[in-house]
Amino acid sequence: MARKSDMQVHKIKAAVLRKRGGPLKIESLEMEGPRDDEVLVRIVASGICHTDIDFCDYWEKSDGPVVLGHEGAGVVEQVGNMVKGVKRGDHVVLSYQSCGRCRQCRSGHPTDCERFYEANFGFARLDGSNALYRSGVRGHFFGQSSFATHALATERNLVKVPKKLNLDVMAPLGCGLQTGAGTVMNSLKVAKRSSIAIFGTGAVGMAAAMAARIVGANPIIGVDIRPQRLKLALELGATHAIDNRRDRVASLITDITGSGVDYVVETTASQKMHGLAIDVLNPRGTVALLTGESGATLLEGRRTIGIIQGDAMPQLFIPKLIALYQAGKFPFDRLVKFYNFSKINTAIADAKRGDTIKPVLRIS
Ligand SMILES: [Zn+2]
Ligand SMILES: [Zn+2]
Repeated sequence: MARKSDMQVHKIKAAVLRKRGGPLKIESLEMEGPRDDEVLVRIVASGICHTDIDFCDYWEKSDGPVVLGHEGAGVVEQVGNMVKGVKRGDHVVLSYQSCGRCRQCRSGHPTDCERFYEANFGFARLDGSNALYRSGVRGHFFGQSSFATHALATERNLVKVPKKLNLDVMAPLGCGLQTGAGTVMNSLKVAKRSSIAIFGTGAVGMAAAMAARIVGANPIIGVDIRPQRLKLALELGATHAIDNRRDRVASLITDITGSGVDYVVETTASQKMHGLAIDVLNPRGTVALLTGESGATLLEGRRTIGIIQGDAMPQLFIPKLIALYQAGKFPFDRLVKFYNFSKINTAIADAKRGDTIKPVLRIS
């Protein structure tokens, strides 16, 4: 490892959270690095995910000022001595971080990393250091903090992507889309002709609907309270749409399937919807909770499982999603609305109101 005194310092601009609920303010900061195992990435674009927004809303003064953002995409500007897989000029999409050393990481299950929480929500490197310490701000959110002109990542949380792809569009692959699609394809392994309901057609739910269509599930029932979203869900993968403000969800599901559904993907984080998900489940069916809750075994082989990042290994799954996108089967670009970096607070407000499904910031 390079000694601290050898470390370069870069002037960057980043959106800093200093107050609960925001607004985020774009400030000039000093960032040291990259260390031997790190990659300095010039961030071209970053998606905004609900985890960023939740963090703003639940921030405590004792958390101190932080830089959020965990759907970054950009161009490699500098690599540490130990980095082998990428070089200056490569295009990369960033994803969640994992330790790489624990049993789960070594057996190919980085979403179950024993240090997952620290690596993604610790606002520090795994050794406790923080590249933004000179500015009194903490970074390393999901091993990136991508609401910034530059971020430090490692080979564990970056994926090299072809240069001909538009990095602005690719940015959200690293969290929300990977989570939705990975839940259907990796975690649930939804089979052809099985029935699935998707509660909440935000970015994660839409990705689940597109993936359900790819694997041949039928019916695919989208449930939401926003008619425009349901309309888009029908175009992207859903075979049926239920407006939860107007319709009785459980009885309509019975009308459609003749019984219940084999799978529910629950993204709304509402207790009422969680309960409904269990009610509409067939025996031996599974509810996937993408809400941070953990799972349980229920009656007649029914179960709920908590899922993190769609059990996806980014270096394998993101290229697969890109190939599906290029084949026209995973048109996630239709979810995206672009905002200039300076409009980050507008983008967050639009996402909160549900007007924008997936805001992407154009940063540099
Ligand atoms: Zn996320
Ligand atoms: Zn690990």
